[in-house]
Amino acid sequence: MADPPTTLRTVAEHQDQVLDSLRPLAPYDQPLLDALGLVAAEDVFAPIALPSFDNSAMDGYAVVHDDVATATDESPVHLPVVGEIGAGQARILALSPGTAVKIMTGAPVPRGADAVVPYEWTDRGVAQVVISKAPERGQHVRSAGEDVAEGDLLIEEGTLLGPRQLGLLASVGRASVVVRPRPRVVIMSTGSELRDPGTVRGHDSIYDGNSYMLAAAVRRAGAIAYRVGIVPDEPQAFLDALGDQLVRADAVITTGGVSMGDYDVVKEALAPTGTVWFGGVAMQPGKPQGFGVVGEDKIPIFTLPGNPVSSFISFEMFVLPALRRMMGRLPYARPTVEATLTHGVTSPPGRAQYLRGELDSADERVTVSPVGGPGSHLVGDLAQANALIVVPTDTTSLDAGATVTVVPLDREF
Ligand code: AMP
Ligand code: MG
Repeated sequence: MADPPTTLRTVAEHQDQVLDSLRPLAPYDQPLLDALGLVAAEDVFAPIALPSFDNSAMDGYAVVHDDVATATDESPVHLPVVGEIGAGQARILALSPGTAVKIMTGAPVPRGADAVVPYEWTDRGVAQVVISKAPERGQHVRSAGEDVAEGDLLIEEGTLLGPRQLGLLASVGRASVVVRPRPRVVIMSTGSELRDPGTVRGHDSIYDGNSYMLAAAVRRAGAIAYRVGIVPDEPQAFLDALGDQLVRADAVITTGGVSMGDYDVVKEALAPTGTVWFGGVAMQPGKPQGFGVVGEDKIPIFTLPGNPVSSFISFEMFVLPALRRMMGRLPYARPTVEATLTHGVTSPPGRAQYLRGELDSADERVTVSPVGGPGSHLVGDLAQANALIVVPTDTTSLDAGATVTVVPLDREF
């Protein structure tokens, strides 16, 4: 499966390979709140109308319009009040001409009544009411079906469910909705030099930043992250850990152990399976990549490079689109914007370069400034940045003032 060592895939080729080999996850019914941020996998039609019965839009008196049509301050209309209807009470089903019923907002309007006189236009009488201003016919009555008719298409398959959509579903009585689930993503850091944050570190070891960064990125993508403890650079230990995790994985992400070193544990362990491609992608950072499937259930696995910036950019370019595809979310890739470069940059030939940048869209002129150097270990600079500056494959330098394509990293899409 390996490409000849000198052949690099382009970023687009690798993205296509990844996306082509994945399918959206099978949909299932979820309680409403658990569907927040997920994509509907069914067309939802209104099982009831909204409002589902004529009801009052004001606190006031339900009346027959003809009885009050002439009411003015000078010549008010007097009506006997024959009862009271609160929200959730349908005690009075019909109104006789020549009478009024006290009614609260949301309460069902009795049959025969065709307007509501708000308190403000009356003396708020209890046994009898004095009405000094006439409503229009139908005024302050919310008619059944005026918002949603029974059978209306409320939510189309593919719609991202947010608070407003979930509120609508609840309003028509739906307690659950069929959605594509959140992918369960197992994240494994490899490297015998790694230590967990919060533990003691020797002079030759480093803290495992990658698994936290990637678990957070997975969560932000709307998926479920299972962060596995650090795996040492021993192929059998790696395979054992991976085997233990596959039962709960829709996808696996590993970092480290995929370049040309002597201890490239992920490559050493997985290359013999023949189901995982290892090779180079024409990008910087992030050249060494691997992708394939593992285990009986052919779980997709992304073997990302260990350098933190490389693994972050690899996640952005390959894993994020894959997770979105699994969730049925569009678009797969982050939308880009054009911006004016504030400082010149250089880039190696034959590689798409992703520089860290600070995008400033506050003014009419959108600008982007490079942050830090190109080194793939610079996590301080990565945290400072809010965007990636894309330097195309065949471009080796860009001057200040050039227009560049930028990937904003913190925008919802
Ligand atoms: P590797 O690809 O395993 O050779 O790792 C490349 C570089 O990234 C080395 O300097 C590693 O120490 C570093 N590195 C690997 N994994 C992590 C991690 N989880 N967190 C921080 N740095 C890492
Ligand atoms: Mg390593």
